[in-house]
Amino acid sequence: MSYDVVIVGAGTAGLVCGAILAERGKRVAIVEKHPYLGGRAMEHRFRGHQIGLSSHLVEDPGDSLTRACELIGVDLTHSARSDSMPFWDDEHGHWIPIQDRYSGSAKQGLKRCIEALKELSFDDIDNLDHLSLREWMSRYTSDEGVYEVWEAISVLEQITLEPWEHSASENLFIRKLHYERKRTAGYSFWPMGGWDALWVRMADAIRARGGEVTTGATVEEVVVRDGAVKGVRLAGGDELEAAEVVVNAPVWDMTKLFADGVLPWDFKHRVEGLAADKNKACWFGYWIAAEEPVIASSTLEMASFFTTPRAGLPGYTLCFTGYDETVSPKGEYLTCVGAAFDATKHYGDKGYYDRKFAELWEDIEDMMPAAKGALWKKPHVVNTYGVICKPGQVGAARPDTVVRGIEGLYLTGDTTRARGIGIDKAARSGITTADAILGGRDPFFADTIRY
Ligand SMILES: Cc1cc2nc3c(=O)[nH]c(=O)nc-3n(C[C@H](O)[C@H](O)[C@H](O)COP(=O)(O)OP(=O)(O)OC[C@H]3O[C@@H](n4cnc5c(N)ncnc54)[C@H](O)[C@@H]3O)c2cc1C
Repeated sequence: MSYDVVIVGAGTAGLVCGAILAERGKRVAIVEKHPYLGGRAMEHRFRGHQIGLSSHLVEDPGDSLTRACELIGVDLTHSARSDSMPFWDDEHGHWIPIQDRYSGSAKQGLKRCIEALKELSFDDIDNLDHLSLREWMSRYTSDEGVYEVWEAISVLEQITLEPWEHSASENLFIRKLHYERKRTAGYSFWPMGGWDALWVRMADAIRARGGEVTTGATVEEVVVRDGAVKGVRLAGGDELEAAEVVVNAPVWDMTKLFADGVLPWDFKHRVEGLAADKNKACWFGYWIAAEEPVIASSTLEMASFFTTPRAGLPGYTLCFTGYDETVSPKGEYLTCVGAAFDATKHYGDKGYYDRKFAELWEDIEDMMPAAKGALWKKPHVVNTYGVICKPGQVGAARPDTVVRGIEGLYLTGDTTRARGIGIDKAARSGITTADAILGGRDPFFADTIRY
């Protein structure tokens, strides 16, 4: 079979890229190895609750995934947005509004940071890839509380832990995006009806435009001859011909798709470096179902903490049922708590994992007493959120959409040179890849923030 473009993977980026290309008349085939769509943003039912592997909230202010859905006529209704950001004050053992961290004259410091951010262009932000957020903020304020406010958001979004690990460019990109688009530091939503239904609607729209979306089919090799892409070979031996191939597989799966010696040496080694386990953003998570909401103060909050009483880890809590009551059976509430850990020190250390899970559960019961009455709890270790966004490991350090040296080969996805958070980042990357194939910014996205 012959196509204009074959896309390896039906994650967010693959679907967004495929949707745009199909809408613009390309004959597209998307090949997904799993039986489901959405990649890391897949969703399944567990004891009657709708559990997204990763697909929690998305930080799209309207110009990435939402815009792509508009292009192909797919409904994406945003839930109500969060109404508060409680922060755990571990010294006094209670939750406080994050605003309490910067009061009085410190407010001026925050204002100066916001003003400076407004002055910065998105291109300027590209020059800050080497800096930590704190180094940039210290040009405008010396108030610890002000640093902490944006760093607490970085813990929630980037899963970075220490002050020097929060990347200036990544964090400023997303703050600027939200201030410009939504006049607030953070905007996120749950897609009403759930993620799985959204991915299915997108795949149907691609098919309606002559595209093919096949699940349960693994690409074994991207076929490259004489420095140019020829198509892909599937497990089982079938070949799909195409002069352009987009690889949506994350960096840790990407290089396996190529025969030895095909990828340029420097490119391959950069990708393998980024893909190292110790470069992954990791956390310990608990899914918790209870008859009353397990929350800090509100079912529509985005709560965060720098440290918990025993585990001593930073993280977040989120009650999904507050955003969409169809997530849970009637009379039950679903909460997810995540506590990030340092992969450079503890990746794969089973003893550490067991100890931290036990400590974290006791912490959760102290911090949100409704957890004591939980109907069930489901612990999980997360190690595929993405490549961690620390200074020096973002922006131009990531592989570009266009793979130079191999004609017709493109990359897409959150582990490539994209910005934003998770699903939004992947969607933004999908748009950029479609642009590269179509030869310029698609007019429908002309007023959106490029990346
Ligand atoms: C636990 C967890 C929680 C998260 N929470 C959030 C959140 O709250 N908000 C948020 O915005 N983001 C969140 N994320 C991150 C978000 O899920 C990812 O950033 C986003 O889904 C990445 O999309 P992608 O298209 O780049 O890659 P992926 O979703 O990884 O898509 C790649 C696809 O390629 C397929 N593939 C790979 N190799 C092959 C092959 N050989 N043949 C065929 N197919 C192949 C894979 O199966 C996959 O479907 C979370 C992630 C995790 C793991």
